Amino acid sequence: MPTFIALPAFQDNYIWLLLDETTLQVTAVDPGDAKPVITWLSRHPEYQLSTILLTHHHRDHTGGVLTLKGATGCKVWGPVNSDIQGIDRPLEDGYQVSICGQDVQVMSVPGHTLDHIAFFCNDLQEPWLLSGDTLFAGGCGRLFEGTAQQMYTSLQRLAQLPDDTSVYCTHEYTQANLQFAQAVEPDNADIRVRLEVVEDLRSSGRITLPTTLALEKRTNPFLRSEHPAVIEAAAQHAGTSVKPGVETFTAIRHWKDTF
Ligand SMILES: [Zn+2]
Repeated sequence: MPTFIALPAFQDNYIWLLLDETTLQVTAVDPGDAKPVITWLSRHPEYQLSTILLTHHHRDHTGGVLTLKGATGCKVWGPVNSDIQGIDRPLEDGYQVSICGQDVQVMSVPGHTLDHIAFFCNDLQEPWLLSGDTLFAGGCGRLFEGTAQQMYTSLQRLAQLPDDTSVYCTHEYTQANLQFAQAVEPDNADIRVRLEVVEDLRSSGRITLPTTLALEKRTNPFLRSEHPAVIEAAAQHAGTSVKPGVETFTAIRHWKDTF
Protein backbone atom coordinates (compact mmCIF):
# COMPACT_ATOMS: atom_id res chain seq x y z
CA MET A 1 0.00 0.00 0.00
CA PRO A 2 1.17 3.57 -0.59
CA THR A 3 2.78 5.81 2.00
CA PHE A 4 0.44 8.69 2.85
CA ILE A 5 1.85 12.19 3.41
CA ALA A 6 -0.36 15.12 4.43
CA LEU A 7 0.63 18.55 3.10
CA PRO A 8 -1.19 21.38 4.89
CA ALA A 9 -2.68 24.02 2.58
CA PHE A 10 -4.65 27.23 3.16
CA GLN A 11 -6.29 27.44 6.60
CA ASP A 12 -7.30 23.83 7.20
CA ASN A 13 -6.95 21.80 3.98
CA TYR A 14 -4.73 18.77 3.54
CA ILE A 15 -3.32 17.73 0.18
CA TRP A 16 -2.62 14.00 0.49
CA LEU A 17 0.37 12.59 -1.35
CA LEU A 18 0.35 8.85 -2.01
CA LEU A 19 3.87 7.56 -2.53
CA ASP A 20 4.54 4.39 -4.47
CA GLU A 21 7.84 3.29 -2.91
CA THR A 22 8.47 0.79 -5.72
CA THR A 23 8.20 3.14 -8.70
CA LEU A 24 8.83 6.39 -6.75
CA GLN A 25 5.73 7.84 -8.39
CA VAL A 26 3.51 10.21 -6.45
CA THR A 27 -0.25 10.70 -6.62
CA ALA A 28 -1.56 14.03 -5.27
CA VAL A 29 -5.15 14.30 -4.05
CA ASP A 30 -7.12 17.55 -4.41
CA PRO A 31 -4.21 20.00 -4.78
CA GLY A 32 -6.01 23.29 -4.20
CA ASP A 33 -2.62 24.97 -4.17
CA ALA A 34 0.36 23.90 -6.27
CA LYS A 35 2.99 25.41 -3.98
CA PRO A 36 3.11 22.82 -1.14
CA VAL A 37 3.34 20.01 -3.72
CA ILE A 38 6.09 21.76 -5.74
CA THR A 39 8.02 22.40 -2.53
CA TRP A 40 7.71 18.76 -1.42
CA LEU A 41 8.81 17.49 -4.85
CA SER A 42 11.82 19.82 -4.88
CA ARG A 43 12.92 18.42 -1.50
CA HIS A 44 12.42 14.82 -2.67
CA PRO A 45 13.86 14.87 -6.20
CA GLU A 46 13.87 11.07 -6.42
CA TYR A 47 10.05 11.14 -6.62
CA GLN A 48 7.96 12.11 -9.63
CA LEU A 49 4.38 13.38 -9.66
CA SER A 50 2.53 11.04 -12.00
CA THR A 51 -1.15 11.56 -11.18
CA ILE A 52 -3.58 14.02 -9.62
CA LEU A 53 -6.86 12.69 -8.21
CA LEU A 54 -9.79 15.09 -7.78
CA THR A 55 -12.85 14.40 -5.64
CA HIS A 56 -14.96 17.44 -6.64
CA HIS A 57 -14.85 20.80 -8.35
CA HIS A 58 -14.37 23.22 -5.42
CA ARG A 59 -11.52 25.65 -5.97
CA ASP A 60 -9.70 24.77 -2.72
CA HIS A 61 -9.34 21.25 -4.16
CA THR A 62 -8.53 22.08 -7.79
CA GLY A 63 -6.71 25.46 -7.79
CA GLY A 64 -3.24 23.94 -8.24
CA VAL A 65 -4.09 21.49 -11.03
CA LEU A 66 -3.02 23.41 -14.13
CA THR A 67 0.21 24.67 -12.56
CA LEU A 68 1.18 21.15 -11.44
CA LYS A 69 0.25 19.68 -14.80
CA GLY A 70 2.35 22.31 -16.56
CA ALA A 71 5.31 21.78 -14.25
CA THR A 72 5.35 17.96 -14.20
CA GLY A 73 3.28 16.63 -17.11
CA CYS A 74 1.22 14.55 -14.67
CA LYS A 75 -2.18 13.13 -15.61
CA VAL A 76 -5.36 14.38 -13.96
CA TRP A 77 -8.21 12.07 -13.03
CA GLY A 78 -11.47 13.50 -11.77
CA PRO A 79 -15.25 13.42 -11.89
CA VAL A 80 -17.12 13.25 -15.18
CA ASN A 81 -19.67 16.00 -15.93
CA SER A 82 -17.55 18.49 -14.09
CA ASP A 83 -16.35 21.88 -15.27
CA ILE A 84 -12.87 21.30 -13.84
CA GLN A 85 -10.18 22.26 -16.33
CA GLY A 86 -7.40 19.83 -17.17
CA ILE A 87 -9.04 16.45 -16.51
CA ASP A 88 -7.47 13.74 -18.71
CA ARG A 89 -9.48 10.82 -17.40
CA PRO A 90 -13.13 11.42 -16.39
CA LEU A 91 -14.27 8.93 -13.75
CA GLU A 92 -17.71 7.55 -12.99
CA ASP A 93 -19.25 5.42 -10.29
CA GLY A 94 -18.05 1.81 -10.50
CA TYR A 95 -14.86 2.52 -12.43
CA GLN A 96 -11.78 0.57 -11.34
CA VAL A 97 -8.51 2.48 -11.54
CA SER A 98 -4.95 1.62 -10.56
CA ILE A 99 -3.31 3.88 -7.98
CA CYS A 100 0.19 3.10 -6.69
CA GLY A 101 -0.22 -0.37 -8.17
CA GLN A 102 -3.43 -1.06 -6.25
CA ASP A 103 -6.96 -1.60 -7.56
CA VAL A 104 -9.13 1.30 -6.49
CA GLN A 105 -12.87 1.67 -6.88
CA VAL A 106 -14.51 4.98 -7.82
CA MET A 107 -17.70 5.72 -5.88
CA SER A 108 -20.15 8.49 -6.70
CA VAL A 109 -21.06 10.24 -3.42
CA PRO A 110 -23.20 13.32 -4.21
CA GLY A 111 -24.36 15.69 -1.49
CA HIS A 112 -21.60 18.22 -0.75
CA THR A 113 -21.49 18.74 -4.54
CA LEU A 114 -23.23 16.79 -7.27
CA ASP A 115 -19.97 15.72 -8.93
CA HIS A 116 -18.32 14.38 -5.74
CA ILE A 117 -16.53 11.04 -6.00
CA ALA A 118 -14.56 8.99 -3.47
CA PHE A 119 -11.77 6.46 -4.00
CA PHE A 120 -11.77 3.14 -2.13
CA CYS A 121 -9.02 0.53 -2.06
CA ASN A 122 -9.87 -2.84 -0.54
CA ASP A 123 -6.27 -3.49 0.53
CA LEU A 124 -6.11 -6.82 2.37
CA GLN A 125 -4.06 -5.44 5.26
CA GLU A 126 -5.35 -1.89 5.48
CA PRO A 127 -8.25 -0.80 3.27
CA TRP A 128 -8.25 2.94 2.58
CA LEU A 129 -10.68 5.59 1.43
CA LEU A 130 -10.15 9.06 0.02
CA SER A 131 -13.38 10.72 1.12
CA GLY A 132 -12.78 14.36 0.07
CA ASP A 133 -15.40 16.66 1.60
CA THR A 134 -18.05 13.94 2.01
CA LEU A 135 -17.07 12.06 5.18
CA PHE A 136 -14.96 14.02 7.68
CA ALA A 137 -13.49 12.85 10.97
CA GLY A 138 -16.44 13.41 13.30
CA GLY A 139 -18.61 15.06 10.66
CA CYS A 140 -19.64 15.41 7.01
CA GLY A 141 -19.50 18.07 4.32
CA ARG A 142 -22.04 20.84 4.00
CA LEU A 143 -24.82 20.47 1.45
CA PHE A 144 -23.85 22.98 -1.24
CA GLU A 145 -25.47 21.29 -4.23
CA GLY A 146 -27.06 18.00 -3.26
CA THR A 147 -30.01 17.13 -1.04
CA ALA A 148 -29.90 15.71 2.47
CA GLN A 149 -31.26 12.46 1.03
CA GLN A 150 -28.34 12.27 -1.42
CA MET A 151 -25.76 12.92 1.29
CA TYR A 152 -27.41 10.43 3.62
CA THR A 153 -27.33 7.75 0.90
CA SER A 154 -23.70 8.57 0.07
CA LEU A 155 -22.63 8.27 3.72
CA GLN A 156 -24.57 5.02 4.13
CA ARG A 157 -22.65 3.62 1.17
CA LEU A 158 -19.33 4.60 2.71
CA ALA A 159 -20.40 3.15 6.07
CA GLN A 160 -20.81 -0.25 4.42
CA LEU A 161 -17.09 -0.45 3.62
CA PRO A 162 -14.95 -2.53 6.00
CA ASP A 163 -14.76 -1.21 9.58
CA ASP A 164 -10.96 -1.11 9.52
CA THR A 165 -10.87 1.20 6.48
CA SER A 166 -8.56 4.17 7.02
CA VAL A 167 -10.31 7.37 5.99
CA TYR A 168 -8.31 10.23 4.50
CA CYS A 169 -10.46 13.36 4.22
CA THR A 170 -9.31 16.79 3.13
CA HIS A 171 -9.92 19.17 6.04
CA GLU A 172 -8.77 19.49 9.65
CA TYR A 173 -12.26 19.98 11.10
CA THR A 174 -12.13 17.16 13.66
CA GLN A 175 -12.10 19.20 16.87
CA ALA A 176 -15.08 21.41 15.95
CA ASN A 177 -16.91 18.37 14.59
CA LEU A 178 -16.47 16.45 17.84
CA GLN A 179 -17.60 19.44 19.91
CA PHE A 180 -20.82 19.30 17.92
CA ALA A 181 -20.98 15.50 18.28
CA GLN A 182 -20.75 15.96 22.03
CA ALA A 183 -23.62 18.46 22.00
CA VAL A 184 -25.72 15.86 20.17
CA GLU A 185 -24.67 12.96 22.44
CA PRO A 186 -23.39 14.30 25.78
CA ASP A 187 -23.46 10.80 27.30
CA ASN A 188 -21.40 9.10 24.57
CA ALA A 189 -18.11 8.09 26.25
CA ASP A 190 -16.41 7.32 22.91
CA ILE A 191 -16.98 10.91 21.80
CA ARG A 192 -15.67 12.29 25.08
CA VAL A 193 -12.47 10.23 24.95
CA ARG A 194 -11.92 11.00 21.27
CA LEU A 195 -12.38 14.72 21.83
CA GLU A 196 -9.73 14.65 24.57
CA VAL A 197 -7.27 12.90 22.24
CA VAL A 198 -8.02 15.36 19.42
CA GLU A 199 -7.70 18.42 21.69
CA ASP A 200 -4.31 17.13 22.77
CA LEU A 201 -3.18 16.63 19.16
CA ARG A 202 -4.41 20.05 18.07
CA SER A 203 -2.87 21.90 21.01
CA SER A 204 0.51 20.87 19.64
CA GLY A 205 -0.48 21.49 16.01
CA ARG A 206 -0.63 17.82 15.04
CA ILE A 207 -2.90 16.19 12.46
CA THR A 208 -5.95 14.21 13.61
CA LEU A 209 -6.13 12.06 10.47
CA PRO A 210 -6.58 9.47 9.15
CA THR A 211 -9.58 8.15 10.99
CA THR A 212 -11.23 4.72 10.64
CA LEU A 213 -14.79 3.80 9.77
CA ALA A 214 -15.11 1.89 13.05
CA LEU A 215 -14.27 5.02 15.05
CA GLU A 216 -16.61 7.14 12.91
CA LYS A 217 -19.49 4.74 13.50
CA ARG A 218 -19.05 5.19 17.26
CA THR A 219 -18.52 8.97 17.31
CA ASN A 220 -19.77 10.67 14.14
CA PRO A 221 -23.42 11.80 14.53
CA PHE A 222 -23.90 11.78 10.74
CA LEU A 223 -23.35 8.00 10.73
CA ARG A 224 -25.55 7.52 13.78
CA SER A 225 -29.01 8.65 12.70
CA GLU A 226 -30.44 5.25 13.70
CA HIS A 227 -29.32 5.59 17.33
CA PRO A 228 -32.03 6.51 19.89
CA ALA A 229 -29.92 9.22 21.60
CA VAL A 230 -29.23 10.93 18.26
CA ILE A 231 -32.84 10.69 17.12
CA GLU A 232 -34.02 12.17 20.41
CA ALA A 233 -31.49 15.04 20.29
CA ALA A 234 -32.43 15.78 16.67
CA ALA A 235 -36.12 15.87 17.55
CA GLN A 236 -35.51 18.12 20.53
CA HIS A 237 -33.49 20.59 18.47
CA ALA A 238 -35.96 20.55 15.56
CA GLY A 239 -38.90 20.92 17.93
CA THR A 240 -40.78 18.12 16.20
CA SER A 241 -40.61 14.34 16.07
CA VAL A 242 -38.21 12.84 13.52
CA LYS A 243 -37.94 9.31 12.19
CA PRO A 244 -34.68 7.34 12.34
CA GLY A 245 -32.53 7.59 9.24
CA VAL A 246 -32.73 10.41 6.71
CA GLU A 247 -35.10 12.61 8.76
CA THR A 248 -32.78 12.49 11.74
CA PHE A 249 -29.77 13.06 9.49
CA THR A 250 -31.45 16.12 7.94
CA ALA A 251 -32.24 17.63 11.34
CA ILE A 252 -28.67 17.06 12.55
CA ARG A 253 -27.22 18.58 9.36
CA HIS A 254 -29.40 21.72 9.81
CA TRP A 255 -28.36 21.95 13.44
CA LYS A 256 -24.67 21.73 12.60
CA ASP A 257 -25.02 24.53 10.00
CA THR A 258 -25.70 27.03 12.79
CA PHE A 259 -23.74 25.41 15.63
ZN1 LIG B 1 -15.71 21.19 -1.08
